[in-house]
Amino acid sequence: MTALPLPQEFTETVRRLDRPVPRYTSYPPVPVWSREFGEAEYRLALADLGRAGPEPVGVYVHLPFCAVRCLYCGCNATVTHRAERVDRYLDRLEEEVGRVAAAIGRRLPVVSLHLGGGTPNYLSDPQLERLGELLCAHFELGPDTEASVEADPRQASWTQVQTLQQLGFRRISFGVQDVDPGVQRAIGRLQSLDLVRESVGMARAAGFESVNLDLMYGLPRQTPETFERSIREVLALEPDRVACFGYAHVPWMQPHQKAIDEAELPGAEARLALFQLAVRRFGEAGYAWIGLDHFARPDDPLAVAQREGRLHRDFMGYTTRVTSTLLAFGASGIGEVQGRFVQSESKVPDWEAAVAQGRLPVIRGHVLSDDDQRRRAAILRLMCDLRLPLAERDGPLAGAMEGLLSWESEGLVAVEGDHVAVTPYGRFFLRNLCAAFDAYLDGGASTMRLSRGV
Ligand code: SF4
Repeated sequence: MTALPLPQEFTETVRRLDRPVPRYTSYPPVPVWSREFGEAEYRLALADLGRAGPEPVGVYVHLPFCAVRCLYCGCNATVTHRAERVDRYLDRLEEEVGRVAAAIGRRLPVVSLHLGGGTPNYLSDPQLERLGELLCAHFELGPDTEASVEADPRQASWTQVQTLQQLGFRRISFGVQDVDPGVQRAIGRLQSLDLVRESVGMARAAGFESVNLDLMYGLPRQTPETFERSIREVLALEPDRVACFGYAHVPWMQPHQKAIDEAELPGAEARLALFQLAVRRFGEAGYAWIGLDHFARPDDPLAVAQREGRLHRDFMGYTTRVTSTLLAFGASGIGEVQGRFVQSESKVPDWEAAVAQGRLPVIRGHVLSDDDQRRRAAILRLMCDLRLPLAERDGPLAGAMEGLLSWESEGLVAVEGDHVAVTPYGRFFLRNLCAAFDAYLDGGASTMRLSRGV
């Protein structure tokens, strides 16, 4: 798909659509989940899962620790310089994993394992080995498990990538964000290009099959010129995948973001121009544009899955592995057990206290209704396939389909045969188009936690 300069008439659309909308990594989104779903409901879901047989599951582990707090950070992160702080967290993690496994009542095969954070590679090599052992004690992890890890180049070392590789990790994502020194100062994340280059080289030498790099647009002091250079340097490292996320400025939720000078942030049109630049440059370099904000080499499993209509999206983003259950461990972990969403206590001390008291640290959840499932499936197909069958107009989603088709006059969707398809321009507003299917988006309190759609 070719990215074109935005014509004048889209400027008005950009202004109108620059409002808070979810990222739709889940539907319904987390802010509308209920505190009435608690530990008892989660235990029931886990017992049902165990009775269902040897269901393959995904596993996510949240490791919240970082050496410094980046000003743009939107993650659940905790700064510490004490190794025993991490050890204590691993003690609780061991208890939580054991308790969940006992509630399931059988060892389940794991198709995907993801370590996210925070900075998972802030753990020492022995701590990473301990984490691997505690997971293997309760779940079937093997060569068929797609194991991936998020990593900070500033924490990477040769022994560390070897340790991760020996533990079975085959995919690694390094955070780059932007290589420009001025932008790096403005976001409080200084890392040289040499450091990134060295980390990528070490990961490849250690045997990682896939090296991914993360970029971010919409950061303070970013200009088309600085971002062009960041894209060029990232391309020179020949990553297998690139994620290009939009910066979400939500200082009312992430108070450390108040240190970012809002006068230096690009506006909605400038943000869109930066992302368009990424789409154009990665496209010219032969990468496939995946869904909303990812790029992948044409032979990468994500690109193949998108071509074959098998692309999937879960809490962690785009994936080829489809499971009905994702078990999440650690503070703020978000998971799903066969149509039941669950989130753990967000703050590390609260999560640790709950686990130490012998509880499963559930803070909220949601049981998907039939209507939720239908809307979720439609949003998923739009996010992955960029089209929906027109026949949906004759079913329970008729109203939502009318909402989607109302964007036809603005050139964001078009009827193609028996489908409604997102146009090249509409793709830049994909989250807004998905919002047509969101029965919970009321513009009320829940939207306070969302980032802008453009
Ligand atoms: S390294 Fe990542 S998780 Fe940690 S503070 Fe920076 S952006 Fe947040």
